[in-house]
Amino acid sequence: MPSETEAPANALAALPLPEVNSLSQGQVRGIACVWDGVPLRTATAVDLGERRVRWSGTRTSWFPRACRPCAERQALAAVLEHGQVCEQCTDDHTRCETGLTLVRAVREARR
Ligand SMILES: [Zn+2]
Ligand SMILES: [Zn+2]
Repeated sequence: MPSETEAPANALAALPLPEVNSLSQGQVRGIACVWDGVPLRTATAVDLGERRVRWSGTRTSWFPRACRPCAERQALAAVLEHGQVCEQCTDDHTRCETGLTLVRAVREARR
């Protein structure tokens, strides 16, 4: 793991995901990219952190994964989208927890 010990373990956990019920079994099981369905290998997959989702009527943990290009694209989109709606980021982005987390997600996707 990198040296960023204080921050949450996985900034990519902050990214919005598709609705779990709309995904294929492979995507739900983390063997296919959650965004474009590309088959994943452990060496190339990006871990998107633990998610709490409603699945068959119960709350459960989900550990989605993505391919690197999708993770980077989604992280960049999230940064741009957030920047358009966040007053704190317009004012001083270094003081916005969410903004910083999303920027870190882009870096993690590129790693
Ligand atoms: Zn993908
Ligand atoms: Zn912000």
